[in-house]
Amino acid sequence: MADRERLTTTAGAPVSSNQNSKTVGPRGPVLLEDFQLIEKLAHQNRERIPERVVHAKGWGAFGTLNVTEDVTKYSCAKVFRPGAKTDMLARFSTVAGEQGAADAERDVRGFALKFYTEEGNWDLVGNNTPVFFVGDPYKFPDFIHTQKRHPRTNLRSATAMWDFWSLCPESLHQVTILMSDRGIPTDPSRMNGYGSHTFSIWNDQGERFWVKFHFKTQQGHAHFVNEEAEKVIAKSRESYQEALYGMIEDGRFPKWTMYIQVMPEGEEVQFEEKTGWSAFDLTKVWPHGMYPLIKVGEMELNRNPENYFSDIEQSAFNPSNVVPGIGFSPDKMLQGRLFSYPDAHRYRIGTHYDALPVNKPKSPVHHYHRDGEMPFGLRTNPDAYYEPNSFGGPVEDPSVEEPPHRYAGQVGRYDFRGETDHYSQPRALFEMFDAGQRERLCANIAGAMQGVPQFIVDRQLAHFDKVHADYGAGVRKAIEVQTRDDAEASLSTSHSAAAE
Ligand code: NDP
Repeated sequence: MADRERLTTTAGAPVSSNQNSKTVGPRGPVLLEDFQLIEKLAHQNRERIPERVVHAKGWGAFGTLNVTEDVTKYSCAKVFRPGAKTDMLARFSTVAGEQGAADAERDVRGFALKFYTEEGNWDLVGNNTPVFFVGDPYKFPDFIHTQKRHPRTNLRSATAMWDFWSLCPESLHQVTILMSDRGIPTDPSRMNGYGSHTFSIWNDQGERFWVKFHFKTQQGHAHFVNEEAEKVIAKSRESYQEALYGMIEDGRFPKWTMYIQVMPEGEEVQFEEKTGWSAFDLTKVWPHGMYPLIKVGEMELNRNPENYFSDIEQSAFNPSNVVPGIGFSPDKMLQGRLFSYPDAHRYRIGTHYDALPVNKPKSPVHHYHRDGEMPFGLRTNPDAYYEPNSFGGPVEDPSVEEPPHRYAGQVGRYDFRGETDHYSQPRALFEMFDAGQRERLCANIAGAMQGVPQFIVDRQLAHFDKVHADYGAGVRKAIEVQTRDDAEASLSTSHSAAAE
């Protein structure tokens, strides 16, 4: 006891026993006055917070962003000053699985970064893919419903997925990436990360540039085929946690090179005229041939969380957390996420989620929000609790105002997707695949389509045909092979059952 801290109640009083509840006699009933027992049980009941509706299962670590190049002609953000080193947090995740889901599943991976800059937190909340399934937030809840459980069977539904995808050809690009070799990274360090959306940055002269963020793995790409992933999952559902935690504990710090693609404001008009794609469409990339990658620096993860729950489960990333020199774009999905992410955190964690240690900026925070659930550290000047005031409270700084957007137009519900070419970019990707990659892509799709009604399969095959004749033909062949294999397997099962 001499060198150990004393166990206390949450109110700080020493506890005499943590072994036996207080009863009437050794066999008697438990007394209500055993407030410490009640406190313990009540706390246990409140140990879980609502899991994220998407990206529930995650793994994360702290690290540093080192800026090695000079990109100040594009952005005045202090985080991009040459030589700047910024503390950061990364959280990787799967999208569809619940918290107990296996790590090595075929799914898109979240790639969320929080940079604790000297001018507030900058969060880049992206994925390991440069595009997404849908380009309008109106479709997002419906899309996610297709990835989650069927209301009646409580099972994942391949029919729902392919029904939705085949009715939304804008998803074809992301579906092709998901079903390709890169659909199951071996661990979080072996994949790229992308901001995915188009954001904007501006320089000291007030010139704005549209921007895409890229983080390329320095560990090299490594991925599982389905059979390998099945073996991994059979042994451990926590393979990503084990890998990421283990490599950082061993001092093998994973690194990514950070790049940007930059498009001067105004050029999006020519880009769309030339390519037919909106520069703000999350289902499309900017080809590197048109907008080459510009190196910014390097990100390294080098510290494991002390407490998973408070550092990773309660970490709250918001695309709306930007800092002077970094801003938004008209990307519709980004605009939707600017609302939905902070809203999710207020619901999951509480009004003052930004005051929790992991989310708290390292730069000073001064605002006039008051009270509410657990307002940690809101100790402002007591007389300056409204604004404007004459008592020395914090004031706005017009020098950090962003340059005006040139975007203006008529309000409406525009369907740009109907007129957009959704096939060329998946074709460019398909053409990069060698014979083996194509074969695995088609086999993965055939496997994922099992049990899907024929009219949905046919509708999706028509999309693959439009991407590339070999893509549609490859999936048809893979379906045939699979149907034959399934028939043979069920025949041999019935033969052996008969023999018994
Ligand atoms: P590029 O030839 O310049 O390649 C673009 C990127 O494709 C590279 O950064 C590379 O990432 C990635 N890539 C290479 N092999 C694969 C693969 N098997 N699966 C997924 N990605 C791969 O082409 P474009 O810029 O003209 O784009 C062509 C297609 O590449 C796009 O339609 C898109 O599907 C895909 N792509 C494009 C990206 C972009 O921002 N332009 C980003 C990622 C993919 P790495 O160097 O890490 O291998």
